[in-house]
Amino acid sequence: MTSECLFCRIVAKELPSTVVYETEEILAFRDINPQAPTHVVVIPKAHYPDVASLAEADPALAGAVLAAAAAVARQEGVAESGYRLVFNTGPDAGQSVFHVHCHVLGGRSIAWPPG
Ligand code: AMP
Ligand code: ZN
Repeated sequence: MTSECLFCRIVAKELPSTVVYETEEILAFRDINPQAPTHVVVIPKAHYPDVASLAEADPALAGAVLAAAAAVARQEGVAESGYRLVFNTGPDAGQSVFHVHCHVLGGRSIAWPPG
């Protein structure tokens, strides 16, 4: 999968990224097209195409992604002001990279639904 998947290539350091958090099983890096002042993508290093397949195959790892997202929010200084975690899944959600990733969005009002 490494040669075909963008995020596997980032994990393998074949492509550059701005890493903000890393453990043995998790990598978090800045989104290349940020939608908020804080926009970090948190992924398991192991390849799963989406959050449903991750949660089914390895619930503990899915939990580790959430814990890492919370740690990133603290580290980025948005834990108190608040933040949104997003797992785009499938076409209607506009998922474009099929390696499960949690968007950590914060640093501005980002309530959903808006208003
Ligand atoms: P999604 O639409 O949920 O699949 O999100 C994919 C995200 O990956 C988008 O927000 C992209 O901006 C981001 N992205 C794509 N390529 C890179 C890259 N090389 N480094 C960091 N983020 C990326
Ligand atoms: Zn992958």
